[in-house]
Amino acid sequence: MFTLSPLPFEKSALEPYMSEKTLNFHHGKHHQTYVDNLNKLISGTKFENMSLEEIIKQSALNPEYTAIFNNAAQVFNHNFFWSCLSKEGNKKPNSELLKKIESTFGSYENFEKEFKQAAVSQFGSGWAWLAQDTDGNLKITKTSNADNPIAHGLKPLMTIDVWEHAYYLDYQNRRADFVETFLKYLINWK
Ligand code: MN
Repeated sequence: MFTLSPLPFEKSALEPYMSEKTLNFHHGKHHQTYVDNLNKLISGTKFENMSLEEIIKQSALNPEYTAIFNNAAQVFNHNFFWSCLSKEGNKKPNSELLKKIESTFGSYENFEKEFKQAAVSQFGSGWAWLAQDTDGNLKITKTSNADNPIAHGLKPLMTIDVWEHAYYLDYQNRRADFVETFLKYLINWK
């Protein structure tokens, strides 16, 4: 049984960039529903006692387990996304990761540009990610719906949720403004 992880900040802590109202729906309703659906779907199956990451790896790309994959990945993606948000958090990565970002993308500013481009150009619901492959190479990726880097053997380092439910109450259709605000005021590098 999975339970909804509490947010790592107060629901009003990200105002005015992400409202308490958005978090009430996004965490309290959307994220909760993924947890509830996952618990129902895995009950009595081989997935019942697996970790979230294990469920994601074992259900990915298997049409028989699409619903389990979608809900498990969305539970993971949201847990990870909340950890990427903080008004007071680090707005730049630690020096080791920063060096890697600079050598991969040219500069931190160029990384931001490419990350924003991925987030804005994801057609429909999905996510943009900074991820690392098994050789330690960095990649910016975008994924549709629940899909995530773990399903493709990559380790996620940073993400933004670009489903409309993530920003519609605060930004309506202006996804680019939401992504820009995320990069400037909400990003939390660990
Ligand atoms: Mn979401």
